[in-house]
Amino acid sequence: MSKTPVLAVEPRAMIPVAGTDHLFPVRRIYCIGRNYAAHAREMGADPTREPPFFFQKAADTVQVCPTGERVPHVYPPMTANYHFEAEMVVALKSGGRDISESDALNHVFGYAVGLDMTRRDLQDEAKALRRPWEVGKSADHSAPVGLLHPVTDVGHPARGSITLRVNDVVKQDADLSAMIWSVSEQIAILSRYFELKAGDLIFSGTPEGVGAVTKGDHLHVAIDTLGAIDLVVV
Ligand code: MN
Repeated sequence: MSKTPVLAVEPRAMIPVAGTDHLFPVRRIYCIGRNYAAHAREMGADPTREPPFFFQKAADTVQVCPTGERVPHVYPPMTANYHFEAEMVVALKSGGRDISESDALNHVFGYAVGLDMTRRDLQDEAKALRRPWEVGKSADHSAPVGLLHPVTDVGHPARGSITLRVNDVVKQDADLSAMIWSVSEQIAILSRYFELKAGDLIFSGTPEGVGAVTKGDHLHVAIDTLGAIDLVVV
């Protein structure tokens, strides 16, 4: 006798692929911490001596952000210091363990503009009390992502501007080439800790200039060749 689920759960998050009718199903969300030197310094860390470290956000924190729309983004509960972190998102079409740096980019499906939204007060408290980061990093809807651009269209962006504006004021303005650990290094190192699989996303870190949002703020995040996303905090 075949077994059936006792209840229905939400389907996994799907990110639209730019210029197609295709959807990219999300398996896991990995994030790298402090991957731009100037941001590491603004967070009180020394960027030169730290090996990379990673954390996860729950896969259902993805908020799909279609191009050209101002997407309402719900200010989450239990925080008074909710921060934006503009990031390039890497989407994997395949994975494995102990992937070599030279092979790493062969596993990438494409790239997108993203935000690693963070309840900074809860993250800071977790750091101080040596507790896990989930309450700071994995709030509902805390991973807005724009359309996914396949490698076949955009290649592997290693340079180009990454910018974030709040109410048309530039807050983050850096270049992808300022990453401490490249995308291929991130994939290689992460695959020593976890078996990476198709559908995994990697948020590749944020540059300097992070800050808080309040209700009514308009966030505009753009990366050269990957377009932009627009959100309004509600
Ligand atoms: Mn981040």
